Amino acid sequence: MISSIIVSAPSGTGKTTILKEIFKKYPNKFSFSISCTTRPKREGEEHGKDYYFLSQEEFELKMRNDEFLEYEQVYQGLCYGTLKSEIERINKEGKTAVFDVDVKGGKNIKKMLKDNALSIFIAPISIEVLKQRLMNRGTETEESLAKRLERAEMELSYKTSFDKVIINDDLSTAINDFEQLLKSYNVI
Ligand code: ADP
Ligand code: 5GP
Repeated sequence: MISSIIVSAPSGTGKTTILKEIFKKYPNKFSFSISCTTRPKREGEEHGKDYYFLSQEEFELKMRNDEFLEYEQVYQGLCYGTLKSEIERINKEGKTAVFDVDVKGGKNIKKMLKDNALSIFIAPISIEVLKQRLMNRGTETEESLAKRLERAEMELSYKTSFDKVIINDDLSTAINDFEQLLKSYNVI
């Protein structure tokens, strides 16, 4: 039985947009595993909802205390990690956990959860389209945009490590493909 889904995509592909729509359609079915991060909060983000925003020292303390299922330095100097306690929290709610993590985190979590997890990679049709989406989103500086695009090339090479790949070209098609995929695995 699938009790969690792992969703990875190069930043700017549209993962958040797709998941929001799925969550809206199935409001009591899913719960995000809330990750820890040392990156600064973006406008509108909340501690304990989007992420647990930690200082480098707080993050390192959790590393030493073995509180993470996995963690990665996703971008230079910025750490992201999945807390073991999140799985317990979501299991207690009787919901399907959603791990919104980078490709390496996704591969590691799949290795641990095996057939209990369905891993999904969302891909853009091109790097050029990805750049345009990140620019339109208006959240990146020139430097962070360059970092994300550079990393996207590496991330795309991971797509074969995932159970399924969904292309986000036309948004409504991608949302429908995602929903059909979850249905085919009896997740919804
Ligand atoms: P991610 O969570 O993968 O980093 P977002 O969901 O924030 O990406 O999407 C990045 C930007 O691209 C957002 O501004 C979003 O509205 C837009 N977007 C998402 N999917 C599409 C699509 N299929 N076509 C055009 N724009 C899209
Ligand atoms: P953002 O800064 O755009 O929110 O996220 C940047 C990247 O970090 C995304 O690819 C996101 O999936 C990834 N990420 C978020 N949380 C985690 C986590 O707990 N572990 C790992 N490995 N990656 C994460």
